[in-house]
Amino acid sequence: MLSPCASRAAALALALAALRIVAPLSTAPAQAQSASIARHRAARTANRVPSAAVRLATKPAPLTLRRHREVAVTFDDLPAPSDSVVCDDPAALQAMTARLLAALKRNRIPAIGFVNEDKLGRGDFEQRLGILKMWLDEGFALGNHTYSHADIDQMPLGAYEIDFLRGERVTEPLLRARKLRERYFRFPYLDVGASPGTKRAFQTFLARQRYSVAPVTIDNEEYMFAAVYAHAMADGDTSAADRVAASFVNYMNDIFAYFEKFSRETLGYEPRQVLLLHADQLDADEMGALAEIMRSRGYRFISLPDALRDPAYHRPDAYDDSIDGGVSWIEHWAQTMHKDVPGGPEPPEYVQRAYAGLEGSAVGLNAGIH
Ligand SMILES: [Zn+2]
Repeated sequence: MLSPCASRAAALALALAALRIVAPLSTAPAQAQSASIARHRAARTANRVPSAAVRLATKPAPLTLRRHREVAVTFDDLPAPSDSVVCDDPAALQAMTARLLAALKRNRIPAIGFVNEDKLGRGDFEQRLGILKMWLDEGFALGNHTYSHADIDQMPLGAYEIDFLRGERVTEPLLRARKLRERYFRFPYLDVGASPGTKRAFQTFLARQRYSVAPVTIDNEEYMFAAVYAHAMADGDTSAADRVAASFVNYMNDIFAYFEKFSRETLGYEPRQVLLLHADQLDADEMGALAEIMRSRGYRFISLPDALRDPAYHRPDAYDDSIDGGVSWIEHWAQTMHKDVPGGPEPPEYVQRAYAGLEGSAVGLNAGIH
């Protein structure tokens, strides 16, 4: 049987071909191909010509008009999403992590990564442990994302709490060894419990474990772009990858505009935001462009603890997943106050189709994972 990655690549070739983006079946020897990919990636980010929309959006507003905004940048599914191309390739995983952390440092972004410890067992444990140590050694924080990316709405609460506890067995000693005191938990799928009772019970459990919840306000479907991008790169189709990367940056600009407006309509102001991303190739390659978008929108990069000092995160939150599933905390507050929830930006059709092509093909490609 083709490895999940290979069948995904074949499916992508089919999906992209259907989209008239002919993906040349890669014949070039892998090394030569990855070297040319690396060269292409460096050239693309160096010579990136932002699209008209991005140029317009990132045309810095005069200082007087530019809003003073703040955002904490967070990454889920460490060491890497289970459906990502690098997930089972130690060298690619290492290289992707090094590129991502270097881009975060270059842009002075004090990020935090949320770990699924079951992935440490997928391959060489020491090598994967090394990936987590890279995050900490570079000065970034780590948090708990449950052991197996569990969904609180799909299992008994007791089993979920066990998965939480299993999810800190490796990370906890790493944090303690570095005298890092804060403990943060990110709900997989942003699912917080499908009833007020379950939600409250787990919050009580978390408090007993001395963990704080890591909410998300700037939610998005970056994972779709990331999967399509990674397969195009794995297939050596740099023109498809470029197209997806440019669409991703445009989309994220629209996502920020959407949640800024939604925040003002819901809270009367824009709180310190919390952005959700994943540790993946697309984010590693486009972190510079993304940081540029955020800076041009007036954002200063802050840590998660600083973001959570905003009074918004201490507001009443009567939301549970029976209302609308796993969503942004801005929707939590809007639903709690019975306010409107406007529709948000969608990934372009061609990305959705290519992603569906991947989903349809691959065993184990977890739809809508975040
Ligand atoms: Zn996740």
